[in-house]
Amino acid sequence: MSERVIPLVDQRHPSLPLPAAEHSHDLSSLSLDGLRRPLTDLRISVTDRCNFRCSYCMPKEVFDKDYAYLPHSQLLSFEEITRIASVFVGRGVRKIRLTGGEPLLRKNIEILIEQLAALRTPDGQPLDLTLTTNGSLLARKAQSLKDAGLQRVTVSLDGLDDAVFRQMNDVDFPVADVLAGIEAARAAGLGPIKVNMVVKRGTNEHEILPMARHFRGTGIVLRFIEYMDVGATNGWCMDEVLPSAEVIRLLQTELPLVQLDPSVPGETAERWGYANAQGEYDPTLGEVGVISSVTQAFCGDCNRARLSTEGRLYLCLFASQGYDLRQLLRDPTQSDTTLAATVDAIWRGRTDQYSRLRSLRGPDTTSGPGRRVEMSYIGG
Ligand code: SAM
Ligand code: SF4
Ligand code: SF4
Repeated sequence: MSERVIPLVDQRHPSLPLPAAEHSHDLSSLSLDGLRRPLTDLRISVTDRCNFRCSYCMPKEVFDKDYAYLPHSQLLSFEEITRIASVFVGRGVRKIRLTGGEPLLRKNIEILIEQLAALRTPDGQPLDLTLTTNGSLLARKAQSLKDAGLQRVTVSLDGLDDAVFRQMNDVDFPVADVLAGIEAARAAGLGPIKVNMVVKRGTNEHEILPMARHFRGTGIVLRFIEYMDVGATNGWCMDEVLPSAEVIRLLQTELPLVQLDPSVPGETAERWGYANAQGEYDPTLGEVGVISSVTQAFCGDCNRARLSTEGRLYLCLFASQGYDLRQLLRDPTQSDTTLAATVDAIWRGRTDQYSRLRSLRGPDTTSGPGRRVEMSYIGG
């Protein structure tokens, strides 16, 4: 077992200087970054707090009762989030995912959802509006989320065995309540539902087959995520990563699969369909996905930007610094056009491709001021 050092440090970092946005900035074409990737997907973190303490994300030793979460005044208000989201939509964003921390802990989240659901793309289309949740409050909130205009949800669930699940969330939360949340989401029509399982070798790999059996044929797409070296507090080591290829091999021992084509460009998951007795994909059995962030980088198609709870824009999940858009949002002299020009200039300067470089050079283990932000702060 490798030795672990868990640095007890504040996750927040000084922000990067904003690029100058000229009045004459050309906004007639959509934003492409330095590697010619478009900006189509925005993830918005609405809180840095969570009621779980998943060891791979918010380990108890760091996120304890003394941890300094952001005070409410530092968070973007719903009006600020909607305004900046509408600017992003003008720059090409078509999909918005609310995340956190645990997004359902943000008070009156339904009001924000209503505001975002009313946004339209320049050609008049509604956005693809979704949310990632640990499912703990979903049974209670599914219907009000749907009524507010949320289209679908992704639920994180790391196992079906109650003891394993309680150990992984580290707050003794029962799995039955998350399963009830998934059921409520289905009943409310928040689909297609996706379930994300982070696989940690030695912790929950024995849950892979039970999870696959449980969700096969239900219309819910189960996705297995490689445990990633995000943040600086989870004590990540490669020994605990179970490569997706091994997940697929394990599934195939019992449940034959055939590989499917990506459904959209830039899709992070590789899709595998359950096969019938003839070895052909059977849509009634559905599909699974694997997200191989560690063993097979997908930076080449990465079209995602991340907005932190306090309004910083991060260009990569593994970034150490973000751009402070809140400063512009709270400056009454700055127009939406200046905001759009700034977002465009930031995106055009983007060359991030951490996972690809990790596969070439190995993980970055910086623990000083250049360390990476936490996933609970910028969202998954
Ligand atoms: N609290 C919500 C949840 O758990 O769904 C939303 C925020 S959480 C940060 C978003 C996603 O990131 C979850 O699916 C979680 O499993 C995933 N995640 C967090 N830390 C991770 C890590 N080290 N490796 C892989 N996935 C991780
Ligand atoms: Fe909370 Fe989600 Fe992180 Fe787990 S993965 S600690 S539920 S934010
Ligand atoms: Fe995108 Fe960064 Fe992940 Fe690569 S490492 S896929 S650039 S978020």
